[in-house]
Amino acid sequence: MHAKQTLLIRICSPACTELEVVVMDWLAKFLKLSEHFQHASDGPGGGVIQGSASEAVLVAVLAAREQAVISCKETHPELSESEVRGKLIAYSSDQSNSCIEKAGVLAAMPIKLLPADDDLILRGNTLRKAIEDDVAAGLIPVICIATLGTTGTCAYDDIDSLADVCQALNVWLHVDAAYAGGGFALEECTELRRGLDRVDSLNFNLHKFMLVNFDCSAMWLKDANKVVDSFNVDRIYLKHKHEGQSQIPDFRHWQIPLGRRFRALKVWITFRTLGAEGLRSHVRKHIALAQQFEAFVRNDSRFEMVAPQALGLVCFRPRGDNEHTAQLLQRLMERKKIYMVKAEHAGRQFLRFAVCGMDAKPSDIEFAWTEIETQLTALLAEKSLAARKPSNVSELTQHFQMHLASDSGTHEKSQ
Ligand code: PLP
Repeated sequence: MHAKQTLLIRICSPACTELEVVVMDWLAKFLKLSEHFQHASDGPGGGVIQGSASEAVLVAVLAAREQAVISCKETHPELSESEVRGKLIAYSSDQSNSCIEKAGVLAAMPIKLLPADDDLILRGNTLRKAIEDDVAAGLIPVICIATLGTTGTCAYDDIDSLADVCQALNVWLHVDAAYAGGGFALEECTELRRGLDRVDSLNFNLHKFMLVNFDCSAMWLKDANKVVDSFNVDRIYLKHKHEGQSQIPDFRHWQIPLGRRFRALKVWITFRTLGAEGLRSHVRKHIALAQQFEAFVRNDSRFEMVAPQALGLVCFRPRGDNEHTAQLLQRLMERKKIYMVKAEHAGRQFLRFAVCGMDAKPSDIEFAWTEIETQLTALLAEKSLAARKPSNVSELTQHFQMHLASDSGTHEKSQ
């Protein structure tokens, strides 16, 4: 079977498209998404596999932008297209991933990073205020990109209140759940899915939490026609006799590249090999391991938690200044036994311990914790030695002088 499908989708490799339709509906059911995201539903919704979360976000941003231009040209015929495009504006939180800002750069549309509340959550009232101010200034709000599971601390934006604002003000709402989407599959994480039935699009990286190898980023659209209408550019060599004759989507209109890879095959294999229950227990295992790590942190008074443990992520720091956190991380990175990265919020640096890997075990968490806490012990010992050094030197000099003096006395006596 050809791993790459090009150009005329139905003709070149129908299995590639048809299997993608099937696995995206499996996934939507597995993640308990609303029925309207399934290809099998009566409506215009459906899912597609993109290469990365960045691509999925960019597709949503571009489609929302084109839809806004179309509707604004209808309501404001006096404005030229370039005048409309010059007024477009988008929103996200200051906790969102760098790919959101990048999508704004690529789409030539400013994305305002709104301040998240103290608990790192973006809520509707902040968005509403920003939109109202911008509308008063003559701008045209296009899209809000919310995050479920921010990169820094895995915080969850308040989708319900953001959806209230977006629906009322006709703004596209996209949810980037690149990491936390895996939690949607669990009954005990129902809260995570609150409001998702009201969003226009969302994405989740199967290569992050679902044991599918890189690259595989699922994206769902409530109304795929909005993307197809925005991106449909035809040429004579792309036309074929089966066009418009079936319910099978032409995914080339749902993405940036023309050709596509057979990513559905690896999703199909993963589901067939591990089963839905196997995948759910994988996610549960990562949560349990993160809880095990969190208990280590809480039981050692030299450390503090920075944010609540969320899924497989624990954000913590050694008590003290940022320099202390940076020095501990540097030691750990130089030893190369474990890998972590730093993050910063409200001027405080912290460490992110993320459980990952195919087969992480409690013994791996113990190993990592031992490495971290013994390196903190060593760092503290070095610091206290360094702090005591000047007095030590003078103490030692005094000691040796006294010793020498008493030695020479003994020597003289014995002669
Ligand atoms: N969104 C979030 C919340 C992420 O954590 C990340 C990466 O870590 C991304 C987007 C970017 O993902 P990708 O590399 O698939 O573009």
